[in-house]
Amino acid sequence: MKFFVNSNCIGCGMCEGTCPAVFHMTDEGVAMAIDTEVDPTVEGLAQEAMAGCPVGAIEEA
Ligand code: SF4
Repeated sequence: MKFFVNSNCIGCGMCEGTCPAVFHMTDEGVAMAIDTEVDPTVEGLAQEAMAGCPVGAIEEA
Protein backbone atom coordinates (compact mmCIF):
# COMPACT_ATOMS: atom_id res chain seq x y z
CA MET A 1 0.00 0.00 0.00
CA LYS A 2 1.22 3.46 -0.96
CA PHE A 3 -0.18 6.93 -0.42
CA PHE A 4 0.24 10.33 -1.97
CA VAL A 5 -0.88 13.84 -1.10
CA ASN A 6 -2.63 15.79 -3.82
CA SER A 7 -2.74 19.56 -4.39
CA ASN A 8 -5.82 20.02 -2.17
CA CYS A 9 -3.59 19.92 0.92
CA ILE A 10 -4.04 22.99 3.14
CA GLY A 11 -1.14 22.11 5.44
CA CYS A 12 -3.12 21.48 8.60
CA GLY A 13 -0.58 18.94 9.84
CA MET A 14 -3.08 16.35 11.01
CA CYS A 15 -1.68 13.52 8.91
CA GLU A 16 1.83 13.97 10.25
CA GLY A 17 0.47 14.04 13.77
CA THR A 18 -1.54 10.87 13.18
CA CYS A 19 1.01 8.89 11.21
CA PRO A 20 4.49 10.46 11.20
CA ALA A 21 5.99 7.27 9.77
CA VAL A 22 4.27 8.01 6.46
CA PHE A 23 3.49 11.75 6.31
CA HIS A 24 5.66 14.77 6.93
CA MET A 25 5.30 18.49 6.36
CA THR A 26 7.57 20.02 3.75
CA ASP A 27 9.24 23.44 3.82
CA GLU A 28 6.45 24.56 1.48
CA GLY A 29 3.95 23.94 4.28
CA VAL A 30 2.14 21.04 2.72
CA ALA A 31 2.23 17.35 3.52
CA MET A 32 4.09 14.69 1.59
CA ALA A 33 3.88 10.92 1.88
CA ILE A 34 6.84 8.57 1.72
CA ASP A 35 7.24 7.23 -1.80
CA THR A 36 7.81 3.65 -0.73
CA GLU A 37 5.41 0.91 0.33
CA VAL A 38 3.95 1.63 3.74
CA ASP A 39 5.03 -0.78 6.46
CA PRO A 40 2.03 -2.99 7.36
CA THR A 41 2.41 -2.07 11.02
CA VAL A 42 1.48 1.56 10.27
CA GLU A 43 -1.06 1.01 7.48
CA GLY A 44 -3.94 1.45 9.90
CA LEU A 45 -2.67 4.81 11.07
CA ALA A 46 -2.03 5.93 7.50
CA GLN A 47 -5.59 5.01 6.55
CA GLU A 48 -6.84 6.86 9.61
CA ALA A 49 -4.96 9.94 8.43
CA MET A 50 -6.41 9.55 4.93
CA ALA A 51 -9.94 9.30 6.32
CA GLY A 52 -9.41 12.28 8.61
CA CYS A 53 -7.90 14.70 6.12
CA PRO A 54 -10.33 17.65 6.07
CA VAL A 55 -9.92 18.26 2.34
CA GLY A 56 -9.53 14.74 1.01
CA ALA A 57 -5.97 15.39 -0.05
CA ILE A 58 -4.64 11.94 0.78
CA GLU A 59 -5.12 9.24 -1.81
CA GLU A 60 -4.03 5.67 -2.18
CA ALA A 61 -1.39 5.40 -4.85
S1 SF4 B 1 -4.35 16.12 6.80
FE1 SF4 B 1 -4.72 16.65 4.66
S2 SF4 B 1 -4.76 18.91 4.59
FE2 SF4 B 1 -3.85 18.30 6.54
S3 SF4 B 1 -1.64 18.34 6.10
FE3 SF4 B 1 -2.35 16.21 5.80
S4 SF4 B 1 -2.83 16.09 3.60
FE4 SF4 B 1 -2.67 18.26 4.12
